[in-house]
Amino acid sequence: MADATPVKWDTTYDKAWAAKVAQWEWTWTDDDTVETHGMCPHCIHPMTREVRRASVRTLLAVSESEGELVPVVVACNCTATHPEQPEGHRGCGKQATFMLPL
Ligand SMILES: [Zn+2]
Ligand SMILES: [Zn+2]
Repeated sequence: MADATPVKWDTTYDKAWAAKVAQWEWTWTDDDTVETHGMCPHCIHPMTREVRRASVRTLLAVSESEGELVPVVVACNCTATHPEQPEGHRGCGKQATFMLPL
């Protein structure tokens, strides 16, 4: 697929995109870091999302109990250049918020 023209940058909320990414497994890579990855359902490039529990919990002022569901934004961060991709952005623009037990 190397010759295919990449899809345009598009931040329109995509329910099907979110539903597919919601099925990806999250793996703890250490005590504080959970990660998921897969092929972006929109642009079909590899994308990853790494979440540091401590920083998310601090940012959202989550209470002490661990395992609470917190909202985490997962955005496509593939390394391809997509037409109309704004400066300083990565990926194809698709993103959604998921509730993760952190
Ligand atoms: Zn892409
Ligand atoms: Zn993408």
